[in-house]
Amino acid sequence: MITKEKIKNLINECETQLKDLFEKADEIALKNQRKVLDAFINNRISTHHFNFSTGYGYGDSAKEALNRLFSDVFHTEDAIVSPMIANGTHAISLALYGVLRPNDILLSVCGKPYDTLVEVINGVGCGSLRDFGVKYHQINYRNGAFNLDEISKYVKEFKPKAVFLQRSKGYHWQKSILNRDIKEVADIIKSIHSDCIIICDNCYGEFVEELEPTDVGADIIAGSLIKNPGGGCAPTGGYIAGKTKYIELIAKRLTTPSLGNEVGSYYSGYLPYFQGFFIAPSVVRNAIKGCLLASKVFSSLGYESLPAHEELPGDIICAVKLKSKEQLLDFCRATQKISPIDSHVTPYPCLMPGYKNDVIMAAGAFIQGSSIELTADAPIKEPYIAYLQGGLTYEHVKIALEKLVECLI
Ligand SMILES: *Cc1c(COP(=O)(O)O)cnc(C)c1O
Repeated sequence: MITKEKIKNLINECETQLKDLFEKADEIALKNQRKVLDAFINNRISTHHFNFSTGYGYGDSAKEALNRLFSDVFHTEDAIVSPMIANGTHAISLALYGVLRPNDILLSVCGKPYDTLVEVINGVGCGSLRDFGVKYHQINYRNGAFNLDEISKYVKEFKPKAVFLQRSKGYHWQKSILNRDIKEVADIIKSIHSDCIIICDNCYGEFVEELEPTDVGADIIAGSLIKNPGGGCAPTGGYIAGKTKYIELIAKRLTTPSLGNEVGSYYSGYLPYFQGFFIAPSVVRNAIKGCLLASKVFSSLGYESLPAHEELPGDIICAVKLKSKEQLLDFCRATQKISPIDSHVTPYPCLMPGYKNDVIMAAGAFIQGSSIELTADAPIKEPYIAYLQGGLTYEHVKIALEKLVECLI
């Protein structure tokens, strides 16, 4: 048994070794904060934008301002930011249903998409894209990277309507994708088939780098507001940003073909969306530092963990390979115990909507399931990998690590 003092020292040593990467994360946060602040100023955001709306929501200036803010920051022509979007899966699904039509081909270049999207794309008899006649093809990673040869061959021969890629690792033992990788694959795809729509699942990727996928060739990005861009404040919702011609189609899917984004009100008021987006660059930086520290600590104890430490990762997730199911449960439960909310609650694995295996989710969060807050989750299957992410404050992650180390030694 090592003492609490020794555990603290270990964590401090790891922190010291990460000094250079932490500085880089600070630089990125500064650039992203500037970008966000400029967008607030340029769009003359004002307290009247925090007002609620009712009924149809006609002329809801807050909604319009929020859309403009997101599209300015992500350098897109347009955006939909909405509490009516239930979560990230819903946002990404809207993007897919919005632009794809019967007999179109959707090509995933990142292997199997996130668990909850599998049924959306390929389910049978549930109103999936496949039920509506959209064809799907998937090209897996080769050695942890895009299989560029096979992608170019496929795009040349079949001219898919849309290409799908995912920035974060999801429940997979793989590196997250960086924007320079997205640029490489997007350039190749567009050089062969310039009309191809590149759609990026941006979950956990916002503000992680200086650029976003839309800066390097993605036509549409989509994500969850209870992850990075909600800054821990947004109570629910999702966003989609991209080219106007696509965003209009997607808005028609969000409501109806006759109404698009002209309707939709929100009676609770938009203050937390503005405030959350404003602090998001800083919150994401805290989470990245926490993620790097966690991975360093786990690997120093002899556990395989991601991200590696040569460069900043493309998402905020630390994955660690544990030895047994019991250890996995302990790990997630320890995360719950050291959370500000529901610390006295014990999470159990269970079947959750959209997932194939039982999943355990520790989320002692202010916002239910909000994974920009410090959370740990895992599908119950071998190898037993825990996914730790988020942290509104870096200090919370650092303190939580003291408890997590106890599960690992
Ligand atoms: C979280 C996540 C999603 C969407 O999940 P929701 O729980 O529906 O918000 C999609 N893709 C990835 C990679 C994710 O991490």
